[in-house]
Amino acid sequence: MSAVDIAPLLRIEGIEAAYQDAIVALHGVSLAVRPGEFHALLGANGAGKSSTLKAVSNLLPAERGRVVAGRIVFDGHDVARTSPAQLVRLGLVQVLEGRHCFRSLTLEENLLTGGLGRSARRSEAADDLARVYEIFPRLKEKRRTLAGLSSGGEQQMAAIGRALMSRPRLLVLDEPSMGLAPLVVHQIFEQLALLNRDQGLTILVAEQNSTVALRYVDRATVLDAGSAVLGGEARELRQRADIQALYFGERVAGLEVRREAA
Ligand code: ATP
Repeated sequence: MSAVDIAPLLRIEGIEAAYQDAIVALHGVSLAVRPGEFHALLGANGAGKSSTLKAVSNLLPAERGRVVAGRIVFDGHDVARTSPAQLVRLGLVQVLEGRHCFRSLTLEENLLTGGLGRSARRSEAADDLARVYEIFPRLKEKRRTLAGLSSGGEQQMAAIGRALMSRPRLLVLDEPSMGLAPLVVHQIFEQLALLNRDQGLTILVAEQNSTVALRYVDRATVLDAGSAVLGGEARELRQRADIQALYFGERVAGLEVRREAA
């Protein structure tokens, strides 16, 4: 069986989404993430990346938004009929844009909150914590530091580590590079690539920084003004100069539109 025949873990089928039933953010976005894949959702500011990811975790209603057409299926479950908390229990775990650490808790306490939803036994939580510290040794060194006093990179690592504590099957990240120094961005993407390669973790990451993301992911989907305009293997997309132009917000005349099959 080829990789293409494997049923996707996440299927987004032609979703349209709107806020307050007035502002249309997505116009028929489709993409599929296969088990074991590292997939990037690329696009300029306002292209619709966060809206797509919020739709994936059924979080749009919390922002007076909703999916008005199309559907999203995670591992056989219709996302629109599954609460965000249930989705986490099913293994769909998201690291939201802006890191969202509990500032008055230590980095370790932040990590431990990630295991709470799973009602994990103490020994399991300890194992998971050790695993996160292996991935991000920096967090071990700084485990007693308050998150509010940590650097942006440490907070991002803690947010990812907290998500890992809930043992995701699909890890979804919204713009992990935001506001971080280039070296730290590479460290984070390197660890994500290792988690994907060594542990088979399926990852969907939204990124504005296409150059970095395309270096690490297997496949990518490019959003422009709420539509998926390109999709394919990262190594092919890396060669395309028009993609770079899209990231700077320029429209490319005569851009070949190849909507990805769900
Ligand atoms: P960014 O990198 O800036 O977050 P993005 O690609 O994630 O960009 P979205 O945040 O999904 O894009 O925004 C897509 C469109 O939806 C934009 O026009 C934006 O103004 C609009 N939008 C996003 N969130 C809301 C909201 N809560 N209420 C109303 N409109 C919104």
